[in-house]
Amino acid sequence: MNTAAVDPEAVNPEAVQPVAVITGASSGIGAATALKLADAGYRVVLTARRTEKLAEVADRIAKDGGQADTHQLDVTDRSAVEAFGAALGRCDVLVANAGGAIGGDSVAASSPDDWLAMYEVNVLGTLHITQVLLPKLIASGAGTIVLMSSTAGLTSYEGGGGYVAAEISHIFGSFGTAVTIIERGDHLLGRHDADIAERFTELYRKRFDVRLNAAVQQVSRAGPGVRLDLTTPTGPESAEGEVLLVAAGRQPNSDRLDVAAAGIEVDAHGHVRTDGTRQTTTPGIWALGDLANHFQLKHMANAEARVVWHNIAHPDKPRSAVFPVVPAAVFADPQVASAGATERELRALGRPYLAATHPYSKAAYGWALEDTTSFVKVLADPGTRLLLGAHIIGPQASTLIQPLVQAMCLGSTVDQMGRGVLYIHPALTEVLEQALLKLGG
Ligand SMILES: Cc1cc2nc3c(=O)[nH]c(=O)nc-3n(C[C@H](O)[C@H](O)[C@H](O)COP(=O)(O)OP(=O)(O)OC[C@H]3O[C@@H](n4cnc5c(N)ncnc54)[C@H](O)[C@@H]3O)c2cc1C
Repeated sequence: MNTAAVDPEAVNPEAVQPVAVITGASSGIGAATALKLADAGYRVVLTARRTEKLAEVADRIAKDGGQADTHQLDVTDRSAVEAFGAALGRCDVLVANAGGAIGGDSVAASSPDDWLAMYEVNVLGTLHITQVLLPKLIASGAGTIVLMSSTAGLTSYEGGGGYVAAEISHIFGSFGTAVTIIERGDHLLGRHDADIAERFTELYRKRFDVRLNAAVQQVSRAGPGVRLDLTTPTGPESAEGEVLLVAAGRQPNSDRLDVAAAGIEVDAHGHVRTDGTRQTTTPGIWALGDLANHFQLKHMANAEARVVWHNIAHPDKPRSAVFPVVPAAVFADPQVASAGATERELRALGRPYLAATHPYSKAAYGWALEDTTSFVKVLADPGTRLLLGAHIIGPQASTLIQPLVQAMCLGSTVDQMGRGVLYIHPALTEVLEQALLKLGG
């Protein structure tokens, strides 16, 4: 096994055969990817921190008629990565696979050092190898980078299909953890517009074990992990895993703070009551954030904090915290963003509305992304032509929604929004323009 420089003959830049570098190639997904790439005609350069198993992978590739070189490489060691890069002639594909670096059998059993090690391998190591090999990937004309990382063998269970469960599932799922989501409703993100919730659920079912209409009856220990007994419309089910995350909603802790002792009133949900200036029922005491509002959003807490700072400093000129539209996003994959009413809410209110839905794929940027699942949905008042609701599922949804939030807050009509401004081509915002134009007028 070659543990020093890469053989320049083997991977010389003039060679017609493309070269793929795979880190963490001794086992698991790294080895499997190496076999596939060798099969596809690449000369594969297999690297790993520990080299014992690399030869086995190289032998399997050789037996199938492929070509593989093996190299000891610790990707967290920047100088070693630079030496490796300097000796490597060409690179067409980089598969930056970190592999599971966490110690112990489960997340719960892991120490801060385990997490630090995982960070060093998954983040720093990936950064080093990508930075060092980037010039070669660019030089090859059509370089491809595949970033992978995993916390091998972890299984997480989520209780609840709201945004916290969606985001945490995405994080663990991206590490390679098998995730089961248990939701008592018939969709994930059930409070969102029904079209969005339906699409999100459909996409999450492809990624995770999603149990809908499932109620947890009992949680018990099962070996080192947990077992959940569920009731579902089709009969009892169970789910087992190493870690259970209960993401079934949050409550203000006004009871534990015993705010009543200071004469501060709370509402039926335990949120501290405040007036428009965010002063509580006890003069001189202010409340903001999750303790005092129902939205439980960081940007709401930030905005309220600015109002409270002002009001404490300028009691003679108090400001009110008035936020007519409260946008929110789910930072999962796919991303989801929403502002204003859902179609269900408008129907329940008996309020007339116009609706238009437009797929990313019909706009140039979405087409270039080869996107087939993302869309923008806008709801407008047929009389005033003001936006009543905006809902987006897809890449950059949380950024894309912002002009619609501006329009809703500042009173622009859908016609002013759709026809009165130019949308840069081929930016993703063109999908907003096209959705707004679909509302006619
Ligand atoms: C998993 C998760 C993901 C989220 N993602 C988003 C997101 O993407 N976007 C978004 O807008 N919002 C998000 N939120 C919500 C956001 O975190 C909150 O809305 C925001 O942090 C509220 O700010 P806050 O100051 O009211 O409360 P917090 O940020 O919770 O701060 C309260 C602080 O008070 C401390 N504290 C509590 N009790 C006591 C006590 N008795 N004595 C002393 N200290 C005490 C707590 O330890 C904490 O530090 C998320 C929340 C969670 C749980």
